[in-house]
Amino acid sequence: DVRPSGNISLAVYRRELEDALHNRLSLEAELRRAVEQQEFHLVYQPQLDLATERIVGVEALVRWQKPGQGTISPAVFIPVLEEIGMIHQLGEWILHEACARQVAWSQHFPAIRMGINLSPAQFEQSDLPLVIRQAARLAGADTRMIELEITESLAMHSPETTIKLLQNLREDGFKIAIDDFGIGFSSLEYLLRFPLDTLKIDRAFVKDITRGRSDRAIVRALTSLCQGLGLTTIAEGVETQRQRDYLDALGATEIQGYLLSPPLAEKDLLVFLQNSFSPKAAQE
Ligand code: C2E
Ligand code: MG
Ligand code: MG
Ligand code: MG
Repeated sequence: DVRPSGNISLAVYRRELEDALHNRLSLEAELRRAVEQQEFHLVYQPQLDLATERIVGVEALVRWQKPGQGTISPAVFIPVLEEIGMIHQLGEWILHEACARQVAWSQHFPAIRMGINLSPAQFEQSDLPLVIRQAARLAGADTRMIELEITESLAMHSPETTIKLLQNLREDGFKIAIDDFGIGFSSLEYLLRFPLDTLKIDRAFVKDITRGRSDRAIVRALTSLCQGLGLTTIAEGVETQRQRDYLDALGATEIQGYLLSPPLAEKDLLVFLQNSFSPKAAQE
């Protein structure tokens, strides 16, 4: 009988579980250390206004520089930080750092809006609005230049509370963007009920915009709806000139993506801004 015995597969399964658990526990421990040692930094991805062809904003994206192991994606560590209840600490640092950079750059360039991602878990902290206000105030930032990026899942639990909270932040001048906007069942309802300034069109729709009529129809519907509601649209993940041309024709307000630039370290961003704001004629 050459079939693997039940005992062996059970043992393999158990071994895999133990490995997964071990990896997970060491990742948690490393993250706790990383937060204390401040192994995080921000990179910034430019956003272009299609009508004026000017850089009008950047999105701050967090990176973990793990000693000896290079840069680790937020997609890997943000969910873990959320689960172990440490996203608040990192989130607060991100708010302070992003606001401070926004103010520093405004001395050299026309004001650049700063997009800051907030994870739904951060909203579980009841003093989040206070933390946000304090970060802007300490940095001396113009709140109208700070755009808070939220996701739909934020509203899952208590839409009423969320709406009130967002309203208060908007009264303070902060801009609110809904990130990764899709066409889920509840999406449109949120779009109509949430106090928003900006809708970020998910990369999924941008990806096939040059190929499929359906994605073009969706983007067209979203941009005209947003126009009617007075919202700005930012298309994410724009990688080609053809995608840009389509988005322009379909009425998107701004684009962000590798076509313009990947997310950049501060010193590279400043060079990028320098080039983009110097007179076109001088370059050509
Ligand atoms: P997001 O907020 O939707 O950010 C956009 C992601 O798309 C970024 O990935 C960016 O690097 C990537 N991207 C930009 N342009 C292109 C493109 O042309 N093509 C493709 N294929 N990708 C592009 P990143 O930096 O790995 O971040 C992943 C996600 O992690 C973010 O998605 C956001 O949800 C979260 N995240 C990043 N930074 C923070 C943060 O500071 N706080 C929180 N709470 N979440 C963050
Ligand atoms: Mg975002
Ligand atoms: Mg996004
Ligand atoms: Mg996305």
